[in-house]
Amino acid sequence: MTRKYDYDLFVIGAGSGGVRASRIAANYGAKVAVAEEYRVGGTCVIRGCVPKKLFVYASHFSEEFEDAAGYGWTVGPASFDWKTLIANKDKEIDRLNGIYIRNLERSGVEIIASRAVLKDAHTVHLVGERRDVTADKILVATGATPFKPHTVPGIEHAITSNEAFHLEELPRRMIIVGGGYIAVEFAGIFNGLGVETMLTYRQDKILRGFDEDIRDGLMAEIRKKGVDLRTHTDIAAIERRGGKYLATMRDGAVVETDLIMYATGRVPNSEGLGLEEAGVRMKKNGAVEVDALSQTSVPNIYAVGDVTDRVALTPIAIREGHAFAETVFNGNPTAVDHSIIPTAVFSQPEIGTVGLTEHEARERFEAVDIYKTSFRPMKHTMTGRDEKTFMKLIVDARTDRVLGVHMMGPGSGELVQTVGIAVTLGATKKQFDATVAVHPTAAEELVTLREKWQPPAAKAAD
Ligand code: FAD
Ligand code: NDP
Repeated sequence: MTRKYDYDLFVIGAGSGGVRASRIAANYGAKVAVAEEYRVGGTCVIRGCVPKKLFVYASHFSEEFEDAAGYGWTVGPASFDWKTLIANKDKEIDRLNGIYIRNLERSGVEIIASRAVLKDAHTVHLVGERRDVTADKILVATGATPFKPHTVPGIEHAITSNEAFHLEELPRRMIIVGGGYIAVEFAGIFNGLGVETMLTYRQDKILRGFDEDIRDGLMAEIRKKGVDLRTHTDIAAIERRGGKYLATMRDGAVVETDLIMYATGRVPNSEGLGLEEAGVRMKKNGAVEVDALSQTSVPNIYAVGDVTDRVALTPIAIREGHAFAETVFNGNPTAVDHSIIPTAVFSQPEIGTVGLTEHEARERFEAVDIYKTSFRPMKHTMTGRDEKTFMKLIVDARTDRVLGVHMMGPGSGELVQTVGIAVTLGATKKQFDATVAVHPTAAEELVTLREKWQPPAAKAAD
């Protein structure tokens, strides 16, 4: 049988979503090719989640060395070598990159090391190879790219997370701009590695969209750890002076620093892809518009992951990629449920959160009960470290269903994965209470919180 097209499926981008979609579609018998312009594995594996988490581990040691004293240890003078960290991180990323390549090959997916752009709804141009190929279905899984506000004079001197993974040297001082996931994670990393770190955020509280207690709590904790967190401020201009940078702040203050990193969001990677020319409807911010089954306005073109700007997390891109292959190559229409998404911020301390914030719950439900606690983690009773762990449950007063869980403290990322099961299944507060505690852990607080929290004024009136 001769095929009408070269491939049943052509995937643009071998990141979290593209790799999963390619493999599943190939396993269902489709002839699949995937084009990748940088490195197979995508943002998460190559310059996102994985190297970031390795950096987080590296940055924890400084506190561990200090804390050891309370337990009787004498640790000799500690020193840190950035080049060793980078070399070992690169080795691990190479290993993972190899695994991703092998897994694709094992599934029978052809990998094409080239930038790919659309010529029309069924034709892809391989820029690096200067040739065209055709496909029945096309999946756009090109991810997102760091955004820098180009209106700031001197912005070209600032790096983003992409470059942070390959710095030649660790700076002595740095400024990080932004108040989202990446800004707070990297502030913790560089501060822990001994860099004098300033974090500047344009509004009043970092981590917009998170529960207010978590936002307040993290601001207090990162300040205690030595990060110079400045709110209601922004860089107005950057100037290079010798090997240093002068950042002029909005209020006119000038700060000298050795490195400036912008973590001011990411934009869908859709520029120059030929999508509009192929008739694909786009959103104003450059995201590809899709329906619940990830289908675009051109019926044979689909899009998953960060390029669609739904929820920019790896497990979501993977799910969307999988659901696409299931829908199109197994005749089983599958939509991804984006309603309850457990997530972790690898800040220091770590944050774990699932479900509604208190604010969202109060907007959507008539009556909401709040349970919360803040305490010094057991480990620090002997280290003397002034760090607080925080946990909060948000409960629908009418049905007793737990609507949200928000945590800050060591292991919160691990914890929220398991408590996320209960919240996804619609567990009630009574069912949390019926669960036997594990002692002594911080997590036991989640099943032993009995007293409803009342605002201070209501308490006084009792
Ligand atoms: P990507 O993984 O970005 O893959 C897209 C791929 O397409 C890239 O490899 C790119 O090179 C390629 N490409 C783009 N255009 C073309 C083209 N025209 N031709 C060929 N190839 C092309 N998420 C979490 O869940 N947990 C975390 O801890 C976490 N940490 C993060 C830390 C950082 C610093 C960053 C930046 C992101 C982090 N994320 C994290 C988000 C996560 O990395 C993304 O949500 C995820 O990678 C999205 O997957 P994707 O498949 O949509 O795109
Ligand atoms: P976020 O959208 O999380 O945060 C962007 C931050 O930059 C916000 O604080 C925003 O402020 C600020 N900002 C935006 N534009 C400007 C500007 N022009 N000038 C000054 N400040 C500005 O983006 P990130 O880059 O941190 O991360 C991108 C996404 O990647 C995340 O949303 C998340 O989905 C994913 N990610 C997930 C991680 C995880 O799971 N642990 C880790 C890292 C990334 P404002 O609040 O005022 O808008």
